Amino acid sequence: MKSLTPKKKFGQNFLSDETVLSRIADCADITKDDDILEIGPGTGNLTKILASRARSVTAVEIDRDLIPFVTVAAEPFQNTRVINADIMKADIESLLPENTGSLKVVANIPYYITTPLVTKLLSCGISFESLVLLVQKEVAVRMAAPPGSKDCGAISYFVSWKAHPMIMLEVPPEAFYPVPKVESALIRLDIRKAPLFDVSDEELMFSLIRAGFELRRKTFVNAIASDSALAARFSKEIISEALLELSIDRNIRAERLTLSDFGALADLLAGKEKK
Ligand code: SAH
Repeated sequence: MKSLTPKKKFGQNFLSDETVLSRIADCADITKDDDILEIGPGTGNLTKILASRARSVTAVEIDRDLIPFVTVAAEPFQNTRVINADIMKADIESLLPENTGSLKVVANIPYYITTPLVTKLLSCGISFESLVLLVQKEVAVRMAAPPGSKDCGAISYFVSWKAHPMIMLEVPPEAFYPVPKVESALIRLDIRKAPLFDVSDEELMFSLIRAGFELRRKTFVNAIASDSALAARFSKEIISEALLELSIDRNIRAERLTLSDFGALADLLAGKEKK
């Protein structure tokens, strides 16, 4: 095996603190009925603990040089498949075992893909029971913030539509090698059996949320008008009329709208595209 130099481009900060590692597994409530997806196993420090507690572990690692390390770490447990792939490009379903029990994601993920990864995991159609992820502390706080509160962002709306978020644990930079510049926190998302409410066009609802938060200091109407894709579909008048129909002030900002406001807006706007 080659010796190990952590690669910045892959967001490699390895966790070596045994106490922190087992507390992460504790927070995921792993039992022998659980099949775990681990993203970015690195050298396999967390993989070992997951493998010792779960029925199976699927560990997906982008860095080919690390595959031998994870393979050796998980070897004794005989229940881990190590896959060399980019989780953002992979068809996740095809990587998982055929008959899964309760599926959980547990991982110290690369921070540079947090938002797209969480979005992918929440929208890929796989019935995960929970996602337990170590992420940058500010991002954990934002994801767990209730929509409409001061710390919230577009991702908070998505998270609360699909899951119950909880911050479980704070982890100091010194627990990692190399020591990162940021603080970390473990977030647990218990996935709802069904989304909070039905919406006719989920994609449109999240486009409205994202565009609204992209320019959160502007009014929602102006933020939508500044988003080229949405502005091509909906005129300012149509957006204002939809707000009026819902008895919402036309000068409101996105951050004052609730998740169900966005759902109602998406339902009203679907089918009202410019001709
Ligand atoms: N879980 C390990 C390593 C965390 S560092 C530990 O706690 O020690 C993040 C890991 O994610 C690295 O091993 C990195 O190579 C891997 N990684 C980065 N981008 C990835 C991607 N797109 N798909 C899969 N793994 C990725």
